[in-house]
Amino acid sequence: MTSRRNFVKNTLAAGISASLLPALANAGPQAFKSKNHLKHWVWTNPNPKDTDEQLVERYKKYYEAGIRGMFFEADSERHFRAAKAQKLEAHRWIWTMNRGEKSLLEAHPDWYAVNRKGESCADHPPYVGYYRWLCPSRESVKRYLADDYEAALKKDYIDGIHLDYVRFCDVILPVNLWEKYNIVQTSELPEYDFCYCQVCKDDYKTEHGIDINTVKYPEASPSWRRFRYQRVNAVVERLTAVAKSYNKPITAAVFPTPDIAHRNVKQDWVNWNVSGVCPMIYHGFYKENVSWIGEAVAEGVKALNGKFPLYAGLYLSDFKDDKELQQGMEYALANGASGVSMFGNVSDGALAALKAAIDNNKRA
Ligand SMILES: [Zn+2]
Repeated sequence: MTSRRNFVKNTLAAGISASLLPALANAGPQAFKSKNHLKHWVWTNPNPKDTDEQLVERYKKYYEAGIRGMFFEADSERHFRAAKAQKLEAHRWIWTMNRGEKSLLEAHPDWYAVNRKGESCADHPPYVGYYRWLCPSRESVKRYLADDYEAALKKDYIDGIHLDYVRFCDVILPVNLWEKYNIVQTSELPEYDFCYCQVCKDDYKTEHGIDINTVKYPEASPSWRRFRYQRVNAVVERLTAVAKSYNKPITAAVFPTPDIAHRNVKQDWVNWNVSGVCPMIYHGFYKENVSWIGEAVAEGVKALNGKFPLYAGLYLSDFKDDKELQQGMEYALANGASGVSMFGNVSDGALAALKAAIDNNKRA
């Protein structure tokens, strides 16, 4: 796991994702509702120090426990091929709107999102140094991202792509992080509200006839809010078309429920047309009990109405032991999740919890 990822793990709700075999993706909603078609996933960053023997043993164990796919945060052909050799799907997990690569920051600072105070993520990253959000309205940004994902899709050992950070910056952080940052976010503060760049403002004016600069409380404007949902939706549409052209699935790590996604990060995943989503139902971030995982899954599944499968993203460190983890998995499956996706240290105990949850779900 990269240090960046560790930071995310410890502080901000991390991205996660899931995917689906093309054959299954095309088979219609019933296919993934069957208990025999559950798929389970692991998010991981491939460690170059892993030996070939370790990978054989690990992925074999994963498969035996019921895991069917991996989301790899870096491109390690060795890891991808080792997973596939054990019948796991191997997907490339790539950050979408949060892109701090130096080459991009230096060449195109104007591509970055601007907050309500007029500050750009290019030189004023909100919360943390690696928060470098792109503006979703720009054609150049969409083309850059499409090219980047296409480079992954072209590779024969990559089975699909997984989007993460496919949203705006958090205008509201999960409540568990307020103390850490010493911020109270019961209202939408201007320094975390994006994007107010000239391109976004001009496009909004063209579409709605309103100059957002003249609106006293832009954060309370329904059309300005929806306009921004649609800007990210358009990015997802573009990337979905690219994945489709390679006949490979596209999945995304998203915020835990449609309501929280809208409210905290202006993310509208219910209206995407991807192969599957992995809502990060990290109950600890929201100071919720394990049973909340079931409630969040039910809300998402109902909103999707069979459009594509939902895999419950679980943050392993949020569970006090493997028994509680098993409970969380059972809540997810009983409420209509097509599987779970695990983030964190996938121990033998976690694998046993998954196996037991699958068996109990079959009996239910
Ligand atoms: Zn913008």
